[in-house]
Amino acid sequence: MSDIRIPDPIKPVDGRFGSGPSKVRPEGVESLSAVSRTFLGTSHRQRTVKDQVARLRRGLAEFFAAPDGYEVILSNGGTSAFWEVATFGLIRDKAQFTEFGEFGAKFAKAATDAPFLSAPTVHRAPGGQAAFLRAEDGVDVYAQVHNETSTGVAVPVRRVADDGLLLVDATSGGGSLDVDLRETDVYYLAPQKALGSDGGIWLALMSPAAIERAHEIKATGRYIPQFLDLVTAIEQSRLEQTYNTPALATVYLAAEQLDWMNAQGGLAWAVKRSAESAAAIYGWADRSTYATPFVTDPELRSAAVATIDFADEVDAAAVAKVLRANGVVDTEPYRKLGRNQLRVALYPTIEPSDVTALTVCIDYVVERL
Ligand SMILES: *Cc1c(COP(=O)(O)O)cnc(C)c1O
Repeated sequence: MSDIRIPDPIKPVDGRFGSGPSKVRPEGVESLSAVSRTFLGTSHRQRTVKDQVARLRRGLAEFFAAPDGYEVILSNGGTSAFWEVATFGLIRDKAQFTEFGEFGAKFAKAATDAPFLSAPTVHRAPGGQAAFLRAEDGVDVYAQVHNETSTGVAVPVRRVADDGLLLVDATSGGGSLDVDLRETDVYYLAPQKALGSDGGIWLALMSPAAIERAHEIKATGRYIPQFLDLVTAIEQSRLEQTYNTPALATVYLAAEQLDWMNAQGGLAWAVKRSAESAAAIYGWADRSTYATPFVTDPELRSAAVATIDFADEVDAAAVAKVLRANGVVDTEPYRKLGRNQLRVALYPTIEPSDVTALTVCIDYVVERL
């Protein structure tokens, strides 16, 4: 098995299909390299770095067409840190969550464990399906994922109630899936997925109502750890800096990537590209005798992350292993889902032609296993 050699001409040009961290464009890294002597290893309180934070915030607001009054807030720790930030700083008393995979579950757990909050309402659905938010009295925060990265299920972003903030985890969906930010109060993400950069920071597009909520909660005197204080993050972001030292390379790569994506045509372009990749892989799976999309409802099938089930007689883990040995990496499924499947990122950084090439490679390997 380990000596199956995939011929170079049928291989993707870039073999990175991981759902996170995901492919970073070599052009971004070269651009970072070109400025490295004046940028890396310099103070994050000085103009050189603050200009890049400003470029990143501007680029993100432009990319998502941030409505008037919405602000780009950022700090350290990735999306996982933001769940704690939101638990301390945005949920007044009771939240409502949907949970149909690992990532939705993690935020729900943070709020459930917080001793100063009421028990949240959690609507659950099994992996491969979706649960939806519903208007509920007494709920002051509604929370959903845009794309559940662990299962490849994507759901629309839509308000369900007139009051209560809507928080959307867009870590893998943001940049691959269409969104109208007026439908959300906080659209938050980390740059190592659809944004094609490196990890370590969280970014949140926040509505005026969300910013007001953060100040309101802080004013109640609730204990909030300094590192997780959203008001501090808001104040620091407005000064084009972070509370503590950020990964300078991550900031630069994300700013560079957003400029590139905006130059290509912004979110509309990105959504179209991911849709092209999605059509390539789901189309292949539909035609295949041994592969089928894991998500049975085509409406829920993600254009950010595709999950493809294999028939019992084909060992997906063995296929992923051969692909990896041939430089085509990170097609393994989400571990805890425990299925005989491959998972493939369709983020806009990835060439749709490379996704097609990947399907050709999978067929090549399966024929020879
Ligand atoms: C990857 C991912 C996260 C976690 O992001 P980190 O930056 O690693 O904390 C959260 N939510 C979703 C939907 C993700 O895909």
